[in-house]
This record gives sequence, structure tokens and C-alpha cells, in this order.
Amino acid sequence: MSLIAIDLDGTLLNGQNEISKENIKAIQSAQENGFEVVISTGRAYFDVRTICEKAGISPYVIGTNGATIHAKNGECISSITITRDCAESILQWLDERNYYYEVFTDQAIYALKKEREQFYKEIQSLKSADSEMTELAAEAERQFDQFGFVLVESCQDILDQAEEFNNILACSFDKMKLEEAWNEFKTFDGLMVVSSADHNIEITNKRATKGMALEKLAFMLNDTLEQAMAIGDSNNDLSMFEKVGCSVAMGNAKDEIKAVCTMTTLTNVENGVAYAINRYMESFAAVK
Ligand code: CA
Repeated sequence: MSLIAIDLDGTLLNGQNEISKENIKAIQSAQENGFEVVISTGRAYFDVRTICEKAGISPYVIGTNGATIHAKNGECISSITITRDCAESILQWLDERNYYYEVFTDQAIYALKKEREQFYKEIQSLKSADSEMTELAAEAERQFDQFGFVLVESCQDILDQAEEFNNILACSFDKMKLEEAWNEFKTFDGLMVVSSADHNIEITNKRATKGMALEKLAFMLNDTLEQAMAIGDSNNDLSMFEKVGCSVAMGNAKDEIKAVCTMTTLTNVENGVAYAINRYMESFAAVK
């Protein structure tokens, strides 16, 4: 038995934000053949569960970039959150500089109404401008498809929630502005900053990465990652690529991601996940 870890956006999901029939079939076939499939994503668990239910699959889920791990039956088996003090500092800093941000808990995704409207307007104007930013704007717009949004007036409304904070995602199409936030939070003790697209940064507890969560899950399953496979397309997948024997970059990933992987598969609109899973299972069959 071995683990197969799969990222969602830009990897398992196609352009319509869905899991294709081919990819569903490959995942089910892997599970039938004794492999454990893990969805490993920056998305919140409740969002992932909705996507998986629609596809009719029940994998393990590493959510919000490793902050949570859920078993196949939906039970939460690990949760690593950002302290309240730290969240307060982050939100105030972002607030003062008018970033659009999303705060993930195990119940909801909180966002400020005004900033969200502003960010949505920015997306629409970039999309209609037909510039090199059009594709990135379309990618950013897909963020609005997430389940579980709760819109509030101020960052205090978020800090007043009793729930724990798994992840804070900040967005901007201004590269310098985003870099400024990256550099700011990188210096925070106990925080991890990654990115899943050119318009965002994602902040978690330092002990919450996709790679560390995968390691933890393997340990719980009494397995190792030596022969495990991880498939992904961006910066927030690097931590799991480092840990597995077989790292697979999507055909649509940037060259810098492909360069650190052991192989590259087809793109997310060409069922690259199914292709990688099938090749991987063949390699096991050949050894037997
Ligand atoms: Ca991705």
C-alpha cells in the first residue's frame, strides 16, 4: 500500500472547477487496488467535502495547506491553528493596507464585504481588459466559487468568532504589494507563508504545511512516504514534493515547479492526474 496525494486547484480540478470522469475513475481504481488517496489543498475541508461528494469519492483530506487532516469518514484527525494574538496582528496589518483577505476556520471562510466587492471589481476590469492578467483574473474569480463564505463588516467581527483560525489568505494583483505582505509575515515567529497562485499568499502555523501533514498521515497509517506519489502545480505543493519518492508536476505548472519534480504529467484540462495515477499503478504492477 502507498499514498497518493493530490492537489485540487490547477491539478485535480479542470477549468470548470470539477473533477473529470477520467480522474474520478483513476482515483477509484487506485483505492480499489489498495492505495490510499489524499486530497491535499489550500481549500477548507467543508469546501473539499462538497466537491468530493459531488464526484462520489471519499479520500483522506489535508485541508487549508496542512492545518487540518480529515479521515475518509469525515472525522477530523489533526488540526493546527494560528494563535488569536497572531491572527489579530495579521488582520490588522492587512486591514490598514486594504488587502482583500479570507480567514478560514473549520466552520466558514470569513471575508470583509467592502474589500470583497472591491476585489471582484478589479477582477472584472482585468478580465475585460484582455491583458496578460486576464487568465490570472479568471483564476482569482474561481476563488469566489468556494463554499462557506460569511461576509462581515470589519476584522473585529472575525476576531470575535469563537472558532480557531486555520489559514489566512491575502490577495492582490499588485506584485509589489503582495511581496510586501509576504516579507512582513515571513518574519513572524511560528508562521508559514506559501502561495498557490500569482495573486495570493497563504498564511498558516509554521507546523501546518501540506508536506508535514502528509508525513503525519503516513505515520498514522503506519506507512512511509518513500514510494508515495504527490501531484501538484504550485509553490504550496513544494513541501509535499520534498517528502515523497515520486513527485509529479502538472503540465500546466511553472517551469520552476517542474524542475524539482521527478516527472511531469499532462495538464489539468487533459486529465493529468488520471494519467499520473495510471502510470504509477503500472510501475507497481511491473515490480510485482
Ligand atoms: Ca494548486
